[in-house]
Amino acid sequence: MSRISFIGLGNMGKPMAQNLLKAGHELTVFDLAPAAVQALVDAGAKSAGSALQSVQGVDAVISMLPASRHVEGLYLGDEGLLQRIAPGTLVLECSTIAPESARKVAAAARERGIRMIDAPVSGGTGGAVAGTLTFIVGGAAADLDEAMPYLEKMGRNIFHAGDSGAGQVAKICNNMLLGILMAGTSEALALGVANGLDPKVLSDIMAKSSGRNWATELYNPWPGVMPDVPASKGYAGGFGVDLMLKDLGLAAEAALHSGASTPLGELARNLYSLHSAGGSGGLDFSSIVNLYQRESSRG
Ligand code: NAD
Repeated sequence: MSRISFIGLGNMGKPMAQNLLKAGHELTVFDLAPAAVQALVDAGAKSAGSALQSVQGVDAVISMLPASRHVEGLYLGDEGLLQRIAPGTLVLECSTIAPESARKVAAAARERGIRMIDAPVSGGTGGAVAGTLTFIVGGAAADLDEAMPYLEKMGRNIFHAGDSGAGQVAKICNNMLLGILMAGTSEALALGVANGLDPKVLSDIMAKSSGRNWATELYNPWPGVMPDVPASKGYAGGFGVDLMLKDLGLAAEAALHSGASTPLGELARNLYSLHSAGGSGGLDFSSIVNLYQRESSRG
């Protein structure tokens, strides 16, 4: 069993760390929030006084932080973790961040002889708890092979997208499509309802027709159409509007950086931004349908 430093014990990091503990690994954990650390200590982890202390004598470091600035702040600079992690150590950076940030940190790690993969996840908090996340990895194939025993304890599907940063690019592309298809499905449902259709009947038709997609099959945004989805529970839980907005912002940045055109991604970003500004940032992202419901009820 390995000794692992796990940094960032929020909604995702906490259950991921718990699954590694259950698998018998020895964890030293750190988070800026003491309560988050305590929950892991109660589950059998060791607490470190700082991120720097957590990486002493470990075989691997795993981080799960909010955004690029937190990841760069943690690893880079004179006080950064890369100054303290032993050469040869494997780092699994699982946060969703800009591909440029992932490449920058991985390059700095390489200079110090530290091996780093970007391994953002898909599957949400439910997947993190169940240990069924999808990991989308960027980095050297040999490093992914070595990370596999850890990733397999936290996830079910593990993909190698390419070199450093490629995991982030693939994750951003997927979530941009998700944002667009959820808005599109909401728009189609609202149009049908505004024209007298029952949303359940229309959903059944679309789920077996060419408009079929992940939202019509598994995550319908209209309240009451499907049981056990956020739409039928007041849009609680699930994947937050603000997290979707963050990922659409990363897609916009990546498009700007590469000169790619993402007009639908930009439109979706504006829709979720408007929705968030209206006070819905904490709701599940399928609540984007509320924007259309308000619009159609005015007519
Ligand atoms: P979160 O805000 O719940 O947790 C982040 C944790 O990091 C917090 O506990 C915070 O205290 C800690 N932290 C921040 N800076 C730190 C530092 N310098 N040192 C130590 N700890 C620090 O976020 P989350 O929902 O767990 O998401 C984490 C990452 O996973 C994000 O990049 C997010 O985009 C991605 N993600 C989230 C979901 C989801 O459904 N929540 C799904 C897929 C991917």
